[in-house]
Amino acid sequence: MTAPEAPPAASAAAPAWYRRLHWQVALAMVLGTLAGLAGGEALAAELGWIGQLFIKLLKMVIVPLVLASIISGVASVGGAGLGRLFGKTLGYYLVTSLLAVLTGLVLVNLIRPGAGADLGAAETRQLPDLTVVTSPVDLLLDIVPVNIVDAASEAKMLSIIFFAILAGLSIAGLPPRHRDPLANLAASAFQAMMRLTSGIIRWVAPIGVFSLILTLVGTTGLGSFKALGLYALVLCLGLTFHLFVVLPLVLRFLGRIDPRIHFRNMVQPMCMAFSTSSSGATLPVTIDAVERKVGVSNRVTSFVLPMGATVNMDGTALYECAGVLFIAQVMGVAMGLEQQALIVVTALLASIGAAAVPSAGLVVIFIVLEAVNLTGPQVALIVGAMLAIDRPLDMYRTVVNVFSDSCGAAVIARSEGETEVDTVVRA
Ligand code: ASP
Repeated sequence: MTAPEAPPAASAAAPAWYRRLHWQVALAMVLGTLAGLAGGEALAAELGWIGQLFIKLLKMVIVPLVLASIISGVASVGGAGLGRLFGKTLGYYLVTSLLAVLTGLVLVNLIRPGAGADLGAAETRQLPDLTVVTSPVDLLLDIVPVNIVDAASEAKMLSIIFFAILAGLSIAGLPPRHRDPLANLAASAFQAMMRLTSGIIRWVAPIGVFSLILTLVGTTGLGSFKALGLYALVLCLGLTFHLFVVLPLVLRFLGRIDPRIHFRNMVQPMCMAFSTSSSGATLPVTIDAVERKVGVSNRVTSFVLPMGATVNMDGTALYECAGVLFIAQVMGVAMGLEQQALIVVTALLASIGAAAVPSAGLVVIFIVLEAVNLTGPQVALIVGAMLAIDRPLDMYRTVVNVFSDSCGAAVIARSEGETEVDTVVRA
């Protein structure tokens, strides 16, 4: 068993701003945008590989990091503590996702962005081919891996989490002679993976982010960032409200945490979520920041963050609800109270089922659409048009998804007596 390592204290002699990673990443975003505008597709084709390399490096570390993190975390908590953590974590996920869905519901009903909109001439795109699990039984069967090596090679996060929790519990129940070497091995493996993650972030993140943004702007133009009609505006409004009002209130009242400190400690993962559009690829960066800067113990992060990246998606939940209501409005279908309640519940489930990869939210929207019988070629056409403008919205909802996970970790850590969480901004 290992005690969580104390986060480094804020140093008095802080390095110059341009040597700080979050400024470097922010600068990389600006330079990437300018380079994309100037160089267009040609430059994107030349330099796009750097961004792909960066994402591959992050993905490379996910499976060993999550396995080692959960096994060492659970082995040190044991069965009794785990039940309590599990309850708090699930409660947090459900409450914040529900708040996000309700925000979407209220905004789309108030502003009605789809009423009278004509999407007939809109550009459409093909949806990516992602597996969608539709029933809870299928989900359960899907989670239990037949072969953990297969699950790891396909990066099936829920299966890996499931196995790691059981393995950690088994280790915790062993006599000390067997338990301690295994728990120590997992803890050391976790430290090694964290070191690797920090190295990747330190050395590759700025150039990786530069390339990702350059590729996006170079291939689709600035149009993808511009206001995309009322629909995009309403979504942005909802995401902004959740990010800057709801979650800070949760931090303040549930965690007694100053949201300004939490935001500043979380700049890096938020930039990463924005440029990768993937909570999964951002996970190593999130774990790194929440442990080293926010100051949460591995016991809590190992539990809240990997599962949160997969099932707690506030931004996606808001998007599912708002997107379906928008489609109904475009088609002129009135949604009664009962149907709106059904949308709330299925939007919540769809966000849980969405994979932590780009555009997953738009793929699972069909679950919600089917629940309220919105099907057929016209619906497919509207979803195709939504996909054409999805990337910037996806970037923003991924930021919200990642930020909500980090708030969950901070609030739960405080409730477990971790008083050092978010007391200072750490470099
Ligand atoms: N891209 C989002 C994420 O990875 C999921 C979504 O498409 O809503 O969190």
